[in-house]
Amino acid sequence: MPDRKSRVYLSSPHMGGDELRLVTEAFASNWIAPLGPSVDAFEAEFAARVGTAHAAALSSGTAALHLAMRWLRLQPGDEVICSTFTFSATVNPIVYEGARPVFVDCERESWNMSPELLAEAIADRVKRGRRPKAVVLVHIYGQSADLDPIVALCARYGIPLIEDAAEALGATYRGRVPGSSGLCGIHSFNGNKIITTSGGGMLVSNDGALIEKARFWATQARDAAPHYQHSEIGFNYRLSNVLAAIGRGQLRVLDDRVAARRAHCAAYQAALAGLPGLEFMPEAAWGRSTRWLTCVLIDPEKFGADREKVRLALEAENIEARPVWKPMHLQPVFAGSECYGGAVAEDLFARGLCLPSGSNLTAEDRGRVIAAVQAAARRR
Ligand SMILES: *Cc1c(COP(=O)(O)O)cnc(C)c1O
Repeated sequence: MPDRKSRVYLSSPHMGGDELRLVTEAFASNWIAPLGPSVDAFEAEFAARVGTAHAAALSSGTAALHLAMRWLRLQPGDEVICSTFTFSATVNPIVYEGARPVFVDCERESWNMSPELLAEAIADRVKRGRRPKAVVLVHIYGQSADLDPIVALCARYGIPLIEDAAEALGATYRGRVPGSSGLCGIHSFNGNKIITTSGGGMLVSNDGALIEKARFWATQARDAAPHYQHSEIGFNYRLSNVLAAIGRGQLRVLDDRVAARRAHCAAYQAALAGLPGLEFMPEAAWGRSTRWLTCVLIDPEKFGADREKVRLALEAENIEARPVWKPMHLQPVFAGSECYGGAVAEDLFARGLCLPSGSNLTAEDRGRVIAAVQAAARRR
């Protein structure tokens, strides 16, 4: 008998077959330092996978976003447009660089930034003499945003587009890869992401000068001199060679990880789609979502319980489920910031729940989640 009370996690690390061997190689060659042959190989393999000319392996996705912001040479008071329906790490680097975020709501079709609202936001900022210095676009919960109109808008106004693809590695958009259409894109290998190095990130771009500069800043901005000489402020943001070895192994099983997460979503849909008042995050027609997390919306009237009741019912069964992201324009730390639209993200937050979706989640544990959601619905 399986232990009914063993913890079911939302999204836990899942190693493939090659990681340990690759890490052992790094040990055997004593490349335990940051930088080394695994870092170079991971960067090259990652760039090939996402279709950009260059990639820089970094200590986190947040570090990658920070260096992208730094490349823009923002001035105090500058504005950067950003998705409101996201994790705070998308926004914080705007503030690290002294600029101000202006938020844009998402659309129901994909839960990602609405191109219509973005057009409205840019036109309005330009009219007020506050041309945005960049757009930071997130691809949320494994699904690409509607890139074509957003790329076209940014191009028309000459505004750099930075893609936060931390949650969307493995997704597609009209056959392309989210994170590779703008000035640069960022990825994350945090422990809960679709592949992980325990912690890490990648900055990708077709602009070789940008990536070279990012590597320079990430390695304490050391000038080319035999002694330690610095002409700029740097950071310690590089990925260690050991963790890059894990990343290389993980990248090889990315497609399996996508398939596993999509299978969870399909199983949840097959079992739960008939429940009144429960709907799934839609998959937009323009591509394939990885279903990094399976997200549902719960209508309390029709379902008989609200999102929090369902979450607590799952927690009572030792199942980890989480509310979807709280929109940035509702966060105390960004109080007073402006948001174009906002009602869609607010509604998603009021009703949205993320279900356990890790690629190593067993069918048995998934069954426990399904049974607990069904029981919550029956308890009306
Ligand atoms: C995880 C995540 C990040 C940050 O990545 P880290 O590697 O944890 O710094 C940024 N944006 C989004 C949307 C994320 O989910």
